[in-house]
Amino acid sequence: MILNGLDNFLANAPTLGPVPQVAVPNEAPDELDLSALPRPDGVSLPTGGGGGGVPAIGGLSTADAELFRGVIAKYFAEDVALANVPADQKDDVTPSKGDCIFKDNGFGIGIPETEQVRNLRYDEADTLNTTEIRKQFPILDQKVNGHDLVWFDNGATTQKPLRVIDGIAHFYKTDYSNIHRGAHTLAARSTDQYEGAREKVARFINASAKENILFVRGTTEGINLVAQTFGHKFLEEGDNVIVSTLDHHANIVPWQQVCKERKAELRAIPIDRNGDLILSELERLISPRTKFISVGHVNNTFGTINDVQSIIRTAHAHNIPVLIDGAQSIAHTKVDVQQLDCDFFVFSGHKIYGPSGIGVVYGKKEWLEQLPPWQGGGNMIKDVTIEHTEFNVPPMRFEAGTPNIADAIGLGYALDFVQSVGIHNIERHEHELTEYARQQIGRIPGITIMGNPKKRVSVISLDIPGIPAPEVGQLLDKEGIAVRAGHHCAQPALRALGYEMSVRPTFAVYNTREEVDRLVVALQKIVRDVEHRP
Ligand SMILES: *Cc1c(COP(=O)(O)O)cnc(C)c1O
Repeated sequence: MILNGLDNFLANAPTLGPVPQVAVPNEAPDELDLSALPRPDGVSLPTGGGGGGVPAIGGLSTADAELFRGVIAKYFAEDVALANVPADQKDDVTPSKGDCIFKDNGFGIGIPETEQVRNLRYDEADTLNTTEIRKQFPILDQKVNGHDLVWFDNGATTQKPLRVIDGIAHFYKTDYSNIHRGAHTLAARSTDQYEGAREKVARFINASAKENILFVRGTTEGINLVAQTFGHKFLEEGDNVIVSTLDHHANIVPWQQVCKERKAELRAIPIDRNGDLILSELERLISPRTKFISVGHVNNTFGTINDVQSIIRTAHAHNIPVLIDGAQSIAHTKVDVQQLDCDFFVFSGHKIYGPSGIGVVYGKKEWLEQLPPWQGGGNMIKDVTIEHTEFNVPPMRFEAGTPNIADAIGLGYALDFVQSVGIHNIERHEHELTEYARQQIGRIPGITIMGNPKKRVSVISLDIPGIPAPEVGQLLDKEGIAVRAGHHCAQPALRALGYEMSVRPTFAVYNTREEVDRLVVALQKIVRDVEHRP
């Protein structure tokens, strides 16, 4: 168990078998819904009774609480305990490590004691046991330019845990074959593992079936697939498509291309000075000719978490389908495609601790069935004559040729890894690191942090006036610190805030406060040196 403080707690919790998949709310406890938890005995939990805040908890009897203790402990110990604490006291209180959560106070839930809660949240400065986690990532254990490597380029790509590295090696050593064809043992093993990975992806994002999942090369290829197939079938002259100014080039260029081809117009939701989308503009941009909306979930330059739920709701009110570019959100926050109700969701394996060269398109069944094939070839057909081809059903229709078998399986292992740590725990850890880094870097005179989005994760963009971003990147590399320095494939977003480039540290599950401190010291030195330049 990764949450150190939960160890004792869980040691006393009864085993409930496999922990059921539940949507972990972003902003527990207000959105905490225990009724979503399947009861071991099949009876659903009471809801309501708590007046909006924590309804399901209010309705819990002590017996119910006991029944769910293991599940709740794993996912919500802190949030559950905090649920009864007035908002303005939450910072002074942390959940107890043990029974107090379930002490009957008339609501079935006890009020936590201050000191114990703090233990849970800040066991040893870090919520996550990063020491153990880092052992899973051998690449981190090296010196670069004489210093311990600090990998803060996670927005560009993440490093891989042993589970992925060894899992792929094992597959090639023992089971490798082409899939779907050939009636022999290795073909069957390979097919099972490839399709098993598809199932893991479906479960991870809570798709209703594995047939909703297409394997592609990555986010870029996924968006191109949707833009071209949808565009060729549905876009006509005079139509329009809406993206956002915060988007990655991968969500702008493919739409620009298909719009040009179909003589359609590309519109963009603008952003404000904080780096937040101006969502009130969306209704104005939508017209009867709007055919598609494609937006990023999390921005890769300011870390903005877009309110995609509201975008999707608005779009659906006008019967417009929505694609969410999840390249930056998938590794940092819980994604539930059914809850979002998006029509498409796209992400890359390599940004969630998986291999490069593999990615995912989730599509609703009704859309996948309507879209025409993308590439022609083997596997995507049912029957071929020289004159005519009868196409296969989704997902095969969109996977022409031999796919990236091993890396799809590797992506499955990456999702296993994330699940073993818990996306909720990862999110919290990264949020703490990000806010700590913003605070520390913000104190250095001569450095500007770009944007100040309301909801954000894992990304900071900064500017040191007087030194070009690439030079800062090189100076940090001399200290063993890897960050991105450039335009991050998000030129419209940077330009909207008046910049061309930024220096961008981005955080992941294996990063630590000590690493942030090293970055801060290195930045201080760079600023000091520039002041003394002739
Ligand atoms: C990285 C990224 C992409 C592109 O992903 P690829 O893996 O390069 O295809 C698209 N959108 C966002 C927001 C990204 O961060």
